Amino acid sequence: MAAIAIDQVQVTRDCRQFVSRVEAFINDELHLGFKLVEVKLDWSARRTRSRGGERAKGSFISIAMNRYVQHGPYKYYEYKSFHKSHIIGGFDHVDYTLPLKSVICHEIAHALDAYGKTYTSPHGESWKGIYTQLRKKFINPHIDYDFSFDAEEPKKKEDIGSLYLAHCESKGLRRDWIGSRIYITNKQYTIKGWNPRARKNFVIVERTNDHKEFVMTPADIKHYMEKSYENPIHVGLAS
Ligand SMILES: [Zn+2]
Repeated sequence: MAAIAIDQVQVTRDCRQFVSRVEAFINDELHLGFKLVEVKLDWSARRTRSRGGERAKGSFISIAMNRYVQHGPYKYYEYKSFHKSHIIGGFDHVDYTLPLKSVICHEIAHALDAYGKTYTSPHGESWKGIYTQLRKKFINPHIDYDFSFDAEEPKKKEDIGSLYLAHCESKGLRRDWIGSRIYITNKQYTIKGWNPRARKNFVIVERTNDHKEFVMTPADIKHYMEKSYENPIHVGLAS
């Protein structure tokens, strides 16, 4: 019997689609503005390690496809230190699909960890927080069966993802600001998001009349938000 060839073109297409879904989820739930500039799905047989992180050009992932895309049931191994975790650990699956998605989530978590400047160590608390969110959303509901681990539940709170959001907020930005409008010398601006790379001016605003983008500090935003509120003539549709 001839071996059934894996359709690399189709698998590549599926992976790209999956990456887009993860990016959209991250933008909705974890970090507005996150975008992978490079998604390399490397089919070369010599390639065995996958990577994710940040380079000069921006966030990237690079996946060793051959290692994960094989026929038959697949055992997915995570790093030894958390392989036995029920949430971010290893598992068995009927085929390669879920393990492949897991490694993609694993690497995207590294990219976001670097992008959001939350990085402490390669598989540190913030990375675990991000990976937890991605696993719960995209992977864990679809796992056929796990190893029935004898391990105890992870000691750390499983919802470390909220730590990640708290980190962003500790920089002074409030999520509910996004989409809000402020008025500076009678011109309207919309708060678009933030740039975690900035040292101070990390809030991005767009001027309504010409769509030009500017950056400001959270303190500036707070100031103008309050001012806009005090001067209702500039707020809403009142002409
Ligand atoms: Zn890793």
